Amino acid sequence: NYVDIMRTITVLGATGSIGQNTIDVISRHPDKFRVFAITGHANLKALVQLAMQCSPRYIVLSDPNTYTTFISLLKAENCHSEVLVGAKALEDVCSAPEVDTVMSAIVGAAGLLPTLAAVRAGKRVLLANKESLVMSGELFMNAVREYKAELLPIDSEHNAIFQCLPHDFEYGNLDKSGIAKILLTGSGGPFRTLPSESFDSITPDQACAHPTWTMGRKISVDSASMMNKGLEFIEAKWLFGLHENDIEVVLHPQSTIHSMVQYTDGSVIAQLGNPDMRTPIAYGLSFPERINSGVDAVDFSSLCDFSFSKPDEARYPNLYLAIEACKQGQAATTAINAANEVAVDAFLKGQIKFTDIAKVNQQALQKTDLIELTSIVQVLEHDEEARSLARELVRKLN
Ligand code: NAD
Ligand code: MG
Repeated sequence: NYVDIMRTITVLGATGSIGQNTIDVISRHPDKFRVFAITGHANLKALVQLAMQCSPRYIVLSDPNTYTTFISLLKAENCHSEVLVGAKALEDVCSAPEVDTVMSAIVGAAGLLPTLAAVRAGKRVLLANKESLVMSGELFMNAVREYKAELLPIDSEHNAIFQCLPHDFEYGNLDKSGIAKILLTGSGGPFRTLPSESFDSITPDQACAHPTWTMGRKISVDSASMMNKGLEFIEAKWLFGLHENDIEVVLHPQSTIHSMVQYTDGSVIAQLGNPDMRTPIAYGLSFPERINSGVDAVDFSSLCDFSFSKPDEARYPNLYLAIEACKQGQAATTAINAANEVAVDAFLKGQIKFTDIAKVNQQALQKTDLIELTSIVQVLEHDEEARSLARELVRKLN
């Protein structure tokens, strides 16, 4: 059994929503998992608390400027973990020979290089950081194959699809398994029924108040604009080797079904559960076995309302822009991902309106060069170009 052997884990982005949920699941099974390293960027107090909770061998600060402050916080707690700083340390704690599993839960493009380091070291990689697949899908998947890494999706939809596919599913071969379609569900976010005339006055706090999931601020805004579902569309394409026509986005506001696989005989297999990321995290940690995640069982007596609809293009322009980018290829998806990070950051800082996010993304997509990206260095350069273009657009809108 996979979980009969003690597994050693690195948690990238431990202070975030996914990171903390990961430590929560791990802490329930001290006989099965130990933490090798945790990493954090800005929330130093949370990082100290986590270190106290899981006693990692290493703590990595991605921002070297926080070192002095962090050390004094840590000393006060009498914690014995070793503190490392910077980009190379992030990669080292992923590729270290002691490590079996890496949770990739840094938000945004910053997650790409450490995640790739884990892939290249052939680890079990639990992928929450969807942006790394959006940026570099083909190169990333090639590396997974070349270095025999084990890539398990943590994004709840992709984890659900993974659970609904047959065990002998062959990458990209839907016909062989009799699969007609992948049904990617999404809640529609907090503004599903808000009159579109009010979209201009949406505040960051309103956008971050998701009706069914509690998440970090960037992904919360992405969920409100449904850019998140667009990024997930691209993520699904690469994870399972799909064609754009194989994926249908379905609105399901209750977030109980986390996605579905439709078979050619008319069967639809769905994965259900309460909206709590500890379920997919636990499945990634223990696959192919199952462990307790701390998540309550679904109470079917309280699930009276189950509804489905098609997402409206006028309400969710970002979803359709991302699908368009997906059809255009890697340069387009890298560009829209970079532009979206810049735009969401500007929105969260009050510099642009909620509706401006789609404007920035649309223009970035229109203006980007659709060149072939054949290396990670090229991907990062293309990402940087799209960012400067997006920053310029933000300045004009501000
Ligand atoms: P979050 O904002 O709560 O946490 C982000 C983490 O990344 C923090 O630990 C932070 O310290 C770290 N970080 C931020 N900037 C960094 C940088 N420049 N360098 C290094 N580390 C940095 O985000 P989250 O909600 O936990 O999401 C993490 C990832 O998981 C995202 O890619 C998101 O799309 C994905 N995801 C999240 C959820 C969810 O429910 N929260 C669900 C599915 C997928
Ligand atoms: Mg998701």
